[in-house]
Amino acid sequence: MLIAGNWKMNLLPHEGMLLTHEICEGMKSISPEIEILICPPFTHLAQCSVIIESDDARISLGAQNCDSHEFGAYTGEISPLMLVSMGVEYVIIGHSERRVLFNESNEIIAEKCHVVLEAGMIPIICIGETLEERNAGNFEGIVREQLLGILRNEAILESILNSDIVIAYEPVWAIGTGLAADPDQAENAHKFIRSILNEYLPGQSDMIRILYGGSVKPDNASAYFAMPNIDGALIGGASLNVESFLAIAQSA
Ligand code: PEP
Repeated sequence: MLIAGNWKMNLLPHEGMLLTHEICEGMKSISPEIEILICPPFTHLAQCSVIIESDDARISLGAQNCDSHEFGAYTGEISPLMLVSMGVEYVIIGHSERRVLFNESNEIIAEKCHVVLEAGMIPIICIGETLEERNAGNFEGIVREQLLGILRNEAILESILNSDIVIAYEPVWAIGTGLAADPDQAENAHKFIRSILNEYLPGQSDMIRILYGGSVKPDNASAYFAMPNIDGALIGGASLNVESFLAIAQSA
């Protein structure tokens, strides 16, 4: 089970440090079988990494995005190699906010996925349909197209065979809205996603963790974790509060 917190563009550095300390402290109540991941803003990563290491805490560190190039004239961007050098192990790729607000296409997301894998990190690839797409009966087509943007790429497929990826199914209508997907509805989506993974990565698809994301809270988390194809959660709002984040992790 992987419990991942996406802090988005929240918390000043001192607040992020405090939250990291509190999570480290709370780790004692979390089973060692549960992997805890925090994804702070870029500006907090180096300090979070020091806290995690000095506490010897079982917490993984992730970034929320990265550029698709290693170095160069890309003002304002962050290289995957810079992230690795700060102890980052995971990178969230293709979050719906990046797709919608920053116009990231399936092609751009595939390029980012490739550089993250090449740099030795694990991409958390976010996919999911909007409410209009679901209401139009187009859920499967959209999710398939988003996944195939990655899986149809030979170079990426090759890298995945020697590495690991995580998929986060995040229906856009459930993100930050309080309208969490029904657990059976989420399980059906995860089953569908796993069947596509199986077409391209037979033998590996059962090991790929598929997280559910979208208004996960302490009072609904355990219903998702009881589902056979749900291997954890990507949590936005509830990851900013130590009690709710740890309560979700405890229910995993
Ligand atoms: C997210 O941003 O990935 C997310 C799932 O947010 P929230 O938990 O707030 O819905």
